[in-house]
Amino acid sequence: MQVDHIARKVLGGGRVVAAEALELYRRAPTHLLGHLADTIRSRKHPERIVTYIIDRNVNYTNVCVARCNFCAFYRPVGSGDGYVLGFEEIFRKIDETIAVGGNQLLLQGGHNPDLPIQWYEDLFRAVKARYPEFKLHALSPPEVLHISKLNQVPVPTVIERLVAAGLDSIPGGGAEILVDRVRRLLNCYSKASSDEWLGVMGQAHRAGLRTTATMMYGTVETEEERIEHMLRLRELQDETGGFTAFITWSYQPEHTEHGGYEATGVDYLRTLALARIVLDNFDNLQASWVTQGGKVGQLSLAFGANDMGSVMIEENVVRAAGASYCMDEVEIVNNIVDAGYVPKRRNMHYELLGDPVFLERDVPRMLALATARTDGDTSVPDELRNYPARSRAGKQLRIAQ
Ligand code: SF4
Repeated sequence: MQVDHIARKVLGGGRVVAAEALELYRRAPTHLLGHLADTIRSRKHPERIVTYIIDRNVNYTNVCVARCNFCAFYRPVGSGDGYVLGFEEIFRKIDETIAVGGNQLLLQGGHNPDLPIQWYEDLFRAVKARYPEFKLHALSPPEVLHISKLNQVPVPTVIERLVAAGLDSIPGGGAEILVDRVRRLLNCYSKASSDEWLGVMGQAHRAGLRTTATMMYGTVETEEERIEHMLRLRELQDETGGFTAFITWSYQPEHTEHGGYEATGVDYLRTLALARIVLDNFDNLQASWVTQGGKVGQLSLAFGANDMGSVMIEENVVRAAGASYCMDEVEIVNNIVDAGYVPKRRNMHYELLGDPVFLERDVPRMLALATARTDGDTSVPDELRNYPARSRAGKQLRIAQ
């Protein structure tokens, strides 16, 4: 099999099979991979628009029983550093997001055994009562599975109840690599097997929700397994068409149990380009500048990405593992314009919302990232008293409240 032959097939609009994807990944020069990916991107987005969203990444709790060994964010049940955000704290974060032109929370957190499904329902209802137009892009498939198991409610019912409470869409977190050999080695098989992750997404799509898909690479997987991950996403997308976008980033090793090294920038660009080639039924690919930095993020636009993701107001998970790149709307827009594209704001459905907010009105610059909680703040929200705890530590905390 020749790289040239496969490249001609891609340029002609053909779909690559696993062996062809592997050949390109292993042997195609980086500039050729970029050219193929950029050709597909310009076919899908001929107007040279690059989009971004203003939303806020809020992690409602860091308490987690899953204990993935690549994660530096979680704290075990009973840890003095564990937190659950109060509803009022979340409202304040929404107010700050709206002040800079934002329209959505990306709400994800640990698998906390002391938060029953009613806590999520009450939170979503309270958010929608105060901010009817504000969107909740919330709870990755492993969180949905955790809520399902904890409350003994089937996944379709969990989704139905959360949608009734205000859930708008589901983020594609927790996919890591959708190959069970890899998931067992990363200790994330029990939070969701590959089939379970895809099963939740299939259910969500069939319930009318749109979702994103992700891939975290650079731990223990082989090149073949990265491709298998992409092919499994492509297969589900053929079936449901429910994914709006694909986002890939490299594993961040600092402070994790797994340790190791971070993949390089070239590896990132090659992986992104390959994803654009393999995922021919995905319209949108995001640049992961949060892990790669603004400069590689900008280069991503020549390697298949057509979206700069989110303006980063708050970040907790990647920062815990050593990466803390920050770009506000001004910087994102500068990077897009400087690369020769037209910047446009969008929503989660990739509908265009307009030109940059800062060109229309004064908005505060965000030159430092906010965190979920200020260091040392161990306060417990009052409303937690209303929800029964499952863990011994949680029960003791309720009594002490
Ligand atoms: S990645 Fe998510 S599920 Fe895994 S330990 Fe971290 S917070 Fe928990």
